[in-house]
Amino acid sequence: MPLNDLTSVAETATRPEFGPEFAAALSDELEAMPLSGRVLRIAALGRAVFTTSLGLEDQVLTSLIAETGADMRIVTLDTGRLFGETEALISETETHYRLAIEVFKPWKEDVAGFVALYGLNGFYDSVEARHACCHARKLRPLGRALENAQIWVTGLRRGQSGNRARSPLAEWDADRSLLKVNPLADQTLSDLKTLASANKVPINPLHAKGYPSIGCEPCTRAIKPGEPERAGRWWWEQDERRECGLHLSASVSGSRAPAQPKATSPAS
Ligand code: SF4
Repeated sequence: MPLNDLTSVAETATRPEFGPEFAAALSDELEAMPLSGRVLRIAALGRAVFTTSLGLEDQVLTSLIAETGADMRIVTLDTGRLFGETEALISETETHYRLAIEVFKPWKEDVAGFVALYGLNGFYDSVEARHACCHARKLRPLGRALENAQIWVTGLRRGQSGNRARSPLAEWDADRSLLKVNPLADQTLSDLKTLASANKVPINPLHAKGYPSIGCEPCTRAIKPGEPERAGRWWWEQDERRECGLHLSASVSGSRAPAQPKATSPAS
């Protein structure tokens, strides 16, 4: 193998000490830290990639990264079906914090394959079709975004849904061989609203219109008073545990590998 290839393998390998025990110890360590300390500690551990969907939690995390100077990449997945407000917030956030958000889009061939099989909005017709769309537009780009990462940083919060109620501050993602860190897992929505307001964090105007959780436009509606935070996501499905698959293991989500054509170039 050429030396360049060996270097590349070394760069992409996870750190040998990372694993379930390391994640459990890190969780305990982070729990005792303020949020800014958590972000700096995570960045010091290795190559960290924060995936933002521009929601309230993620905007607070972006502000912490910007303010502490924590060394981690910030990436987002532009599915091609986002709200205009979310698209606009990407550049607004970059300008506000003078940082770059890397945008990962689906492969044209993946989207074309989905549309050919199910139709552009075929995700309304079955859970299988919806998982296939999320796979093409989210999971495949996520795989590319995390390609060189050792640590995956997310804005998951326990109060977002029953699925997420036991999210630790740090966990071992065995499927991806990554340390997954959720530094806001133990924060409440109220905590984060207060923090965002006090620090003038730019947030999506849709939050004020009844959208506490914002995904793709055709798959997100405003919630009614008293509904769970994520009730507006894929609202037509009956499964209360519904997720797009980003934060579920392959065995749970069943959404990792629907048939997709081979991809060669990113969608515009
Ligand atoms: S949320 Fe909806 S539009 Fe977005 S990727 Fe999933 S199924 Fe497709």
